[in-house]
Amino acid sequence: MDATDPAADEVIEICRDLLRIDTTNTGDLDTSTGERVAAEYVAQKLAEVGFQPEIYESEPGRASVVARFEGEDPARDALLIHGHLDVVPADASEWSVDPFGGEIKDGYLWGRGAIDMKDFDAMVLALVRRMRREGRKPPRDVVLAFVADEEAGSTYGAQYLVDRHPGLFEGVTEAIGEVGGFSVSVGGDQRLYLIETAQKGIDWLRLHAKGRPGHGSMINDDNAVTALAEAVARVGTHRFPVVLTPTVRAFLEQVSQILGIELDLDDPEAAVGKIGPIAMIIGATLRNTANPTRLAAGYKDNVIPGRASATIDCRTLPGQSELFEEELRRIVGPDIELEYIHRQAALETTFDGALVEAMSAALRAEDPGAIAVPYMLSGGTDAKQFAKLGIRCFGFSPLRLPDDLNFGALFHGIDERVPVEGLQFGVRVLDRFLQQS
Ligand SMILES: [Zn+2]
Repeated sequence: MDATDPAADEVIEICRDLLRIDTTNTGDLDTSTGERVAAEYVAQKLAEVGFQPEIYESEPGRASVVARFEGEDPARDALLIHGHLDVVPADASEWSVDPFGGEIKDGYLWGRGAIDMKDFDAMVLALVRRMRREGRKPPRDVVLAFVADEEAGSTYGAQYLVDRHPGLFEGVTEAIGEVGGFSVSVGGDQRLYLIETAQKGIDWLRLHAKGRPGHGSMINDDNAVTALAEAVARVGTHRFPVVLTPTVRAFLEQVSQILGIELDLDDPEAAVGKIGPIAMIIGATLRNTANPTRLAAGYKDNVIPGRASATIDCRTLPGQSELFEEELRRIVGPDIELEYIHRQAALETTFDGALVEAMSAALRAEDPGAIAVPYMLSGGTDAKQFAKLGIRCFGFSPLRLPDDLNFGALFHGIDERVPVEGLQFGVRVLDRFLQQS
């Protein structure tokens, strides 16, 4: 891309503008901010080049923008490109720059949301504006969605659109969004680009223990706090068995081959241990996990309460939800009651077909050392909502990263930043991808 290419400059300008709009999502309606301002900014950028964006507000200020980019062949199934506009909070005192200043230094654009995911929002906007200016259309209809509230469960963003305005996604069969398409150096001139084809499910469960309430000075062999504490400790120290899903197996097979690591499928953890920093990302996708996160019991120091409860954050592999629950019930025992407080299903699709080929080819065209591999995200994204409409979702927001950058640590991290060249690279890859999609 030459220096006069307007999209190369515009992606930086748009990303910077978006970073300067504080869209902190605290998870609380009263204190979350800025999504409406960001949505209006995005709508204006789209309207300037002839799109007809609509803003959808689920609650005052909780705004998302959707526009349709008509393709050469509108009869074909449509593609959804989605990004969220909100960010997690940033404590300015911990940062070396203003988290909402959009500063550029050392080749990076700094700010909360630089990686998660105003970078991708900006790439998409820069690309579609350029295509409009050049009179180009995508081969098929593309629905563009820039949404609120991803960082606190999607209720006021993607979930609202899917539940209340499903017609916006009419004809959409495939989607791309976060978290995938980023590079991981594996030595020499080769870089893995991790394409997200699966996500673990989210099960937040509350454990309830009941007992005999009474005075703290007496003998009590039916203490709810003791029963709960024992159950929580058993859950927290339990190691669920390794289950190799098709996605993780494909990832390990490919990476083992590239790195020349021997892969023992009976002990995949040994292989994961040898793959370097991405082990942090992959390790949690080998098994179901259950982490205790909250405890609640009692109201006075000398009173034994009749009930006690704890929350556990469980992440399940695709297809494992029922087996997981059985195992969990065995671990906590018959006297502890389980209550689901939040459930989102796991996702998994195959790493094949024309769209995957378009991703791989676009990456290779811009980085000859690119090797696209599928992977499973241990967390969740808005894809969980869009998948409810039967849409096949991928994490593909292409970004070439410097070899020494710890990408995983930047997510929700201090001094979040995106390489300026990475943004420009992303626009070029997306352009090629869209042409072939
Ligand atoms: Zn995100």
